[in-house]
Amino acid sequence: MTLKVYKAKRDFKKTPEPKGKKAGGGKELTFVIQKHAASHLHYDFRLEHRGVLVSWAVPKEPPKVAGVKRLAIHVEDHPLSYGEFEGTIPKGNYGAGKVAIWDKGTYSALGAETRGESAKRVEEGLEKGHVAIVLKGKKLKGNYDLIHLKRADKKNMWILVKRK
Ligand code: MN
Repeated sequence: MTLKVYKAKRDFKKTPEPKGKKAGGGKELTFVIQKHAASHLHYDFRLEHRGVLVSWAVPKEPPKVAGVKRLAIHVEDHPLSYGEFEGTIPKGNYGAGKVAIWDKGTYSALGAETRGESAKRVEEGLEKGHVAIVLKGKKLKGNYDLIHLKRADKKNMWILVKRK
């Protein structure tokens, strides 16, 4: 988990996005989804993990209904403080356009009893390409799976689906 790529893509003199750093979290792990009106509208799906937000860009609205699959493109980790960010990234900057929080809440790994256990399961899930989580948001609630497509030509592609 590193913010190197995040920082390399941005000029913090020109964007209002947080420079951020790795940080400790609260009692429960958090997630946030930001609606991002960049050149292509998408939803940034972010899970707190080991002091950063592990992130996927979802081109269509994340599913509230079980069985609906959404493509989720794994992107660079973002700082935890990004979860509070709303505003407009000015033209000419990476990801230029309006960012608004679409949903947020807490989450745990499926079957995990503690924060530490969740972290361990998410870690393993990221490695093996299947992260199973329980979301407690306003819009998204329930069990979700993130499944890596494991295609040599599409390394960053995952599927986000609400479990039946
Ligand atoms: Mn984005």
